[in-house]
Amino acid sequence: MAGIQLTTELSAVPGVGPKFTAKLQKLGIRTVKDLLWHFPFRYEDYSKIVPVGELAVDQSATIQGMINQISTRRTWKKNLLITEAIIVDDTGGIKATWFNQPYVTNILKQGHYYSFAGKVTRSNREIYLASPSYEPIDSARKGEAKHTAGLIPIYPETRGLTSKGLRFLIKPILRSLDPVEDFLPEEILKENKLPSLHVAIKRMHFPLQAADAAGAKKRFAFENLFLLQLNNLTAKMKLAETTAPALPVADQDLEHMVQNLPFQLTASQKDSLHEIIADLAKPRPMNRLLQGDVGSGKTVLAAIAALVAAKDGAQTAFMAPTEVLASQHYRTILKTFPWFDGGVALLTANKTELSFGDGITQKMTKGKLLKEIAAGNVKVVLGTHAVIQKGVAFANLGLAIVDEQHRFGVSQRAALLKGQESRAPHFLSMSATPIPRTLSLTVFGDLDLSTITELPPGRKEITTKIVAPENRKKAYEFIRQQIEKGRQAFVICPRIEPGTVSEDESKGPLILSEARRKALELKSVKEEYEKLSQKVFPDLRVAMLHGKMKGKEKDQIMKDFQDKKYDILVSTSVIEVGVDVPNATIMMIEGADRFGLAQLYQFRGRVGRGEHQSFCFLFTDSGSATTHARLDSLIEAKNGFELAEKDLQIRGPGQFLGDKQTGLPDVAMDALQDILLVKATRDTAKALLSNDPGLSAHPALLKKFQEFQTAIHLE
Ligand code: ADP
Ligand code: MG
Repeated sequence: MAGIQLTTELSAVPGVGPKFTAKLQKLGIRTVKDLLWHFPFRYEDYSKIVPVGELAVDQSATIQGMINQISTRRTWKKNLLITEAIIVDDTGGIKATWFNQPYVTNILKQGHYYSFAGKVTRSNREIYLASPSYEPIDSARKGEAKHTAGLIPIYPETRGLTSKGLRFLIKPILRSLDPVEDFLPEEILKENKLPSLHVAIKRMHFPLQAADAAGAKKRFAFENLFLLQLNNLTAKMKLAETTAPALPVADQDLEHMVQNLPFQLTASQKDSLHEIIADLAKPRPMNRLLQGDVGSGKTVLAAIAALVAAKDGAQTAFMAPTEVLASQHYRTILKTFPWFDGGVALLTANKTELSFGDGITQKMTKGKLLKEIAAGNVKVVLGTHAVIQKGVAFANLGLAIVDEQHRFGVSQRAALLKGQESRAPHFLSMSATPIPRTLSLTVFGDLDLSTITELPPGRKEITTKIVAPENRKKAYEFIRQQIEKGRQAFVICPRIEPGTVSEDESKGPLILSEARRKALELKSVKEEYEKLSQKVFPDLRVAMLHGKMKGKEKDQIMKDFQDKKYDILVSTSVIEVGVDVPNATIMMIEGADRFGLAQLYQFRGRVGRGEHQSFCFLFTDSGSATTHARLDSLIEAKNGFELAEKDLQIRGPGQFLGDKQTGLPDVAMDALQDILLVKATRDTAKALLSNDPGLSAHPALLKKFQEFQTAIHLE
């Protein structure tokens, strides 16, 4: 076999039968490249050669010895062909067995020396080496075996494909693989002490020692993060070449907006506001993420930005993830800036409204409102993402804001740019889920960050308690007392999500379709609602909120809850984002262990927004110490950032990236926690682009980069 290339189809590789290729295809493995990029997830250490006399049961080991005797027979019970050999060295002998591989008898010769790698197994009273791999050695040069000594790769288990089978397939391919061209420039490899691509592939599969495997892994992690950095930096460069309307504001105008607020901005809000204002004044599109804890007051800054844009005649699209939130923002803006007469509209699937300040609100048809927007008569449009994407035409869109999202998605951006490709609006996104530092330098590296680091003064710390099942009654009594004092309570039902399961369940992940999950969630919220409204609090006013409700219904319930028409609101996690009910002082979370720390933190932030002491109760049936330790960190954490870093360690980066697949391979996802590597890739990418922004000196890298860009989805 010779001349194998990465692009070679596996079906064209000698020795790979159609049965095998069919199995591989099920895994999406068609070419040599697909196969070689199917990386082992761990290695078994056969690097030490163990004397036969010292072997222990269940040990994976390499031994070296002489074949003393070998034969194949047919078992009468299961009609299997079983090959048995006795291997001896200076310290003793052990049996080795292979099933249905009669050819082994022809390969291993009596009286010759071989190296064997396998697991010492016991069955009945017999101890033997189970199906060991083997290779001949020269008896005089012990210890030089290459394929049975060293680290043996173990691949993710997949139906019908064993690690052993993959090893048999991969090893000869690696031997006949033509030199693989490396797209990473030589200097970069050298500077970062990385193996070349060809070497890395070999070492990834068959490392001689742990350091080889680690080096190979680092190389693949590096290349992915490096490409990601190129992606971010080129996106930034591209944006820096795009025109946006400059939206400056005169000091006294800004002063007027800020002075007339019902409160004083915190120092941190002021800092962030100035960063935003400075960006708006430039003729290049802002691409900024405003992050800050729940309740830190992001909305008011976004609203001021919109008013600044309006002052310059530009329109703002202000998008929220839910209709509830969109209408809340709409009402907040009207309330906070009653003097603003530039036109504020609410545009959701169920509601269209337009207001020109001073409490004058016009209900109008959607068609009429769209016309007003297209004519430029409405400066600020509040809505959900969907509504804005469905072809609302702006006369002069200057600013786009998304709430509770880390950044604009590609499709959102495209929708907003429609019809004005030459001129982009300024982009501002807001999120209360803090980004861990390594992620802000990688996956979110295209964004400029503003962070509100403090809460408005006077906020009381929220008392947080983990409630064991036996204390449930007491907690209910406490809630009742609060309600009797005029307060309100949220009850969050356990999360049901695809691929998620509490740590204590060992049965493996629960994979649910989106529809099934919604159905289960609905069931759980209904049950909880019935329990609370009929059994626990039959005399109180209990309402229910869930994702299957129509936007209009949800809106109405939220509004009624805000107007104190209900005492308790039972909800799924739809409540998570943004909703503001200052009179609510209780946040009770069922199945708290099923949520990530960052999400729990968000829930808790729904209370403690008013003058009263607030409480967060985390209900869990789990007795596991790790679960409790994890929930405890919610009690101890000083801010969301701390929790985000913890969450990153415990649950990985996936949760910060949404439900969608990122397209980043596992090696890169793991490396997203390695700050040194992250910095190295960033510095390297910066240095390279500063000399050669078009990567014209590195055509192979450019090609790879283009492939990477089409494969990656970071929203
Ligand atoms: P978030 O950052 O979570 O989106 P909001 O913007 O909803 O927070 O603000 C939470 C509450 O705090 C709102 O009721 C808002 O009016 C109020 N608020 C914002 N900034 C201040 C401030 N500087 N002082 C007092 N209250 C403030
Ligand atoms: Mg908010």
